[in-house]
Amino acid sequence: MRYIGLSGGIGSGKSTIAKTLEHMGYPVFYSDEEAKKLYATHPSLKNELIAILGKDSYQNGVFQKHVLATQLFENPALKEQITALVHPLVRERFNEWAGQQTADFVFNEAAILFETGAYKQFAATVLVVAPLETRIQRVQKRDGLSREAVLQRIAHQWPDSKKINLTPYIIINDGQPLLRQIEDVISKLRTAQ
Ligand code: ADP
Repeated sequence: MRYIGLSGGIGSGKSTIAKTLEHMGYPVFYSDEEAKKLYATHPSLKNELIAILGKDSYQNGVFQKHVLATQLFENPALKEQITALVHPLVRERFNEWAGQQTADFVFNEAAILFETGAYKQFAATVLVVAPLETRIQRVQKRDGLSREAVLQRIAHQWPDSKKINLTPYIIINDGQPLLRQIEDVISKLRTAQ
């Protein structure tokens, strides 16, 4: 079994492609969703986050993202500190999950695999790209956000131009048919085995 990353900036369509892969019979692990669950449920992570960010970072057991966001303005280094806590736990969950799968490929979907360097831990990583304006409009529609709010989220991620040099497995989700591209990537992954 090979572990394959699946990444792309917000609004690129990586979740859409992940669902298609699942329909094709490939198991997909959703790292960002798993991280959200861990924030809510992992007791020692919760305690560590409270120790770093203060009591206000949880209310009724729910992690308060805005508390983190506010503190990040004053202390950007916090991001790495928190990533270092959360990522190993997500990876542990992924390994456990992958151990229960029987497919020849399993995918790990996450927004920032290139930014964090985590892509190096996979046999290969598939990158989904889309034009910036298309991404903005998709996310505005999906999440009901203002253009500025979407641009802020995009600014925290690398531009596609920086990621396309790091993998040969690229899906262009600009309105052209996806299925053929997904099949092509799968067959390229198979021949690279
Ligand atoms: P990501 O997971 O990369 O943030 P999503 O897969 O959630 O992106 O896609 C963002 C939004 O755009 C979703 O509402 C999705 O349904 C829509 N979308 C994605 N790809 C396409 C496409 N090729 N055509 C039309 N809508 C799309």
